Amino acid sequence: MGIEEVTKTARTRLCIESGERSWLKDARYTARDIANDTLRLKQAGHSRTEIQKDVDREDFLRNNKCAVVGKALQAWDSYKELLNWWHDQDDTHVGKPSPPATDKKGAYPLVMAHTEGYRLTLNDEDDRIQFRVSPKPYKKVRGHLRGRQEDLKLIKAALTEEEWSLGQAELLHRDGVYYLHVTAKTEIDVPEPEDADTLVGVDINERNIALTALDRETMDTLGTLVLDYGTVKAERQRYHTITKRCQEHGQHSIHHQLGEKEERYTAWILHRMSRVVVEFAQQFSNPVIVFEDLSGIRDAIKYGTYMNRRLHKFPFHMFEQQVRYKATWNQIPCEMVESPYNSKSCSCCGHRGYRQGRRFRCTNDSCGVQQDHADRNASVNVAWRAWAKHAGVDVESVTYRTRKTQPFVRKVSLSGSGRSVNRPSSSREIASRGVLSA
Ligand SMILES: [Zn+2]
Repeated sequence: MGIEEVTKTARTRLCIESGERSWLKDARYTARDIANDTLRLKQAGHSRTEIQKDVDREDFLRNNKCAVVGKALQAWDSYKELLNWWHDQDDTHVGKPSPPATDKKGAYPLVMAHTEGYRLTLNDEDDRIQFRVSPKPYKKVRGHLRGRQEDLKLIKAALTEEEWSLGQAELLHRDGVYYLHVTAKTEIDVPEPEDADTLVGVDINERNIALTALDRETMDTLGTLVLDYGTVKAERQRYHTITKRCQEHGQHSIHHQLGEKEERYTAWILHRMSRVVVEFAQQFSNPVIVFEDLSGIRDAIKYGTYMNRRLHKFPFHMFEQQVRYKATWNQIPCEMVESPYNSKSCSCCGHRGYRQGRRFRCTNDSCGVQQDHADRNASVNVAWRAWAKHAGVDVESVTYRTRKTQPFVRKVSLSGSGRSVNRPSSSREIASRGVLSA
């Protein structure tokens, strides 16, 4: 993995001391025009360079313009992703997504690069963070930032510590208050996946996430955990997550069909689960988190209903990104393995088997496992494939894989109701339940 860039966002308020508030307002409305034009041109097939040239205007900082165009094009990419997903759906009870609107009224966030569109400095005398925002050429708004201690601390670190730097900021306005959301960047040295001592395989489906940690040397199972996140709500998760992103860019039609409550639930559960995955991995020596590469499978192979359901009903990409983000902060590498027949292979002997409800049954008479928790079995396969990949082993040629893995499964419910009696309080506690004692 090597050096990875990670970002955090500090949310602050502007306390304006000089300059006109109307300049900020004008700039946010000009940003809206630029965003509309960008999307219109993109839809007409123009390149980014052509768009940049076309939307140029005198009353707007050129540097800010580039940033606004970038943000609008991100909205376009989100729409494309949603559209692809929609095309793959069997169940199209939700309407076809429409492209981001190009005639939107109202303000757009003013996106700015540090030192160009905005600049922050630390005033040593009063320990305040001073800002300068340039909404228009030769027009500057100045003042200082207010906010929570942790947000201000992050910005101060970015201004004073060598390993941190400031990225883009967005100027927003709500109920008469101007907000500045500032991104701070740093780099983290993440070990290479092939140097890991413990392989943590992740298997995801519409009901749960199964994790298995294998010792790379001995192929012993060090831990295994199945996280159950409930069936009903999970079905709509992937949809909600993408919708949430699109909603910011004007896809209200779809958004309205979904409750805000469920959206929060999705965000909560993704956050929670990704934390458990990382904390589970942290308990072992030099871990690597291994995902199946599901994206390739979707395009390449007609995979049968089970696989299709898995792909469609879980916000896999979002989940993976969150795990990666949290893992990177903890210097844990992640990697992908291709995994055809993952859920159909026996994790012990490699033979094909079959699912029977939640159980996996091996068809090899001489295999010691014969049956296992199906999702756990799949997670062992994911971890094992990472081993095979780095050992240069042909996956199909090996008949013996892991040690006879015990069908021990710790199942923990992560349902959102909070009524479950045994519901553990912290994600660390959940994670620790999956470690096997020697
Ligand atoms: Zn077997």
